[in-house]
Amino acid sequence: MSLNTVRLGVGCAAVLLTAAAIGHALGATSIALAITAAIALVIVLGRLHYEESRMPATALPPALAEAARHATRTRRLAGQLRALRNAAAALPDALVLLDREGRVRWFNDAAMRLLGLRRPQDRRAVLSTRLAGTAIAGWLTGAGDEPLDDVPAPADAALHLSLSLLPISRDQRLLIARDISNLNRLEQVRRDFVANVSHELRTPLTVIHGYLELLDPEDTPELEPIIGEMRLQSRRMAQIVEDLLTLSRLETQPRLVEEHVAMRALLATLRKEAEALSHGRHTVTLEITDDADLLGSLKELHSAFSNLVSNAVRYTPTGGRISIRWQRTPEGAVFAVSDTGYGIPLSHQARLTERFYRVSSSRSRETGGTGLGLSIVKHVLNLHQARLTVASEPGRGSTFAAIFGTERVLDPASEEA
Ligand code: ADP
Repeated sequence: MSLNTVRLGVGCAAVLLTAAAIGHALGATSIALAITAAIALVIVLGRLHYEESRMPATALPPALAEAARHATRTRRLAGQLRALRNAAAALPDALVLLDREGRVRWFNDAAMRLLGLRRPQDRRAVLSTRLAGTAIAGWLTGAGDEPLDDVPAPADAALHLSLSLLPISRDQRLLIARDISNLNRLEQVRRDFVANVSHELRTPLTVIHGYLELLDPEDTPELEPIIGEMRLQSRRMAQIVEDLLTLSRLETQPRLVEEHVAMRALLATLRKEAEALSHGRHTVTLEITDDADLLGSLKELHSAFSNLVSNAVRYTPTGGRISIRWQRTPEGAVFAVSDTGYGIPLSHQARLTERFYRVSSSRSRETGGTGLGLSIVKHVLNLHQARLTVASEPGRGSTFAAIFGTERVLDPASEEA
């Protein structure tokens, strides 16, 4: 009970006593007067009580005031904590709070549904041990720095999860697991749609292209520019369809044909292709710093590398230089193509591997681009656990580099083994 409430109680008792005394002194006829006096007293005491409750707590003895403030603060914080926990518990994403040793400190309901954790037995369990044998356990025991994408849920293999680990203090990390099954399904619908449309377009385009090739412009000279344009556009459409089918194939291909790719031979082919495409308009050089080969798919790597080489030729004006480089690094090996071409403004660089993304649509079309080349490169490199980097300056040129990890680098001698 607060001090103010005690005072109010005492005040009310005083009112009643006063009213009784006045009533007794003045007789029954003066009861109305007594009641009036009592009401006046109640108003005065009520006012006093109100004033007191508005007085700063310092008016109380300091220790009492401090204790009252502390209790209020504790109550408020406990309320906020409860609200936060309720909100976290209701989240559809699984949340698991881990300590420095990777032990479970707390988890929400979704963690039970998606990760199969149980209360109370999994509190304090080491999560990587609890999920032993799953991809998540391996990821947790590793650094866990990079998010883990698209893994089956330990509690239900039909569900797919995407996980990330956030450091929230020196001793605690928060594991977030999101159910991406619906997203995956939508993505599959999109992939199937693109693959089916491309496939359906392939045959009619081949027929149209075939008939266009049969038309001889010499028979109808006035139609020559039209026939020329129609042939060009039908070739472009056929190339777009082929590139879309390549992308669909790469997207649905879970793993690669792993073979020993002899890099010297591949680099020599790429150089010839660059020269053929350039028609002598550029200087093409090849620099091989180390003899190293790659573990991967020759067909896919050839397709990715020749996309980079063909871009360098297409986006470099006549007289420019193109250099193809291959070297080992402490982290693995790097295939790079540099040109002295138009370059790419920084604001565009992050989006280059998106489908149909072009810095300049007219330049891409003029040079026969489909806008899909770098998407193909990215997919091929992903399948080789490699990554693409871009360094470019408008007006000075660009360098596209494919960076491979040591696990992909082979010694040429091992080819004979
Ligand atoms: P495209 O078929 O249009 O060349 P890509 O996916 O291969 O499509 O490339 C996407 C865009 O990136 C191109 O349209 C072009 O604007 C830019 N680009 C790619 N390579 C280079 C390069 N070497 N120099 C300048 N711009 C480039």
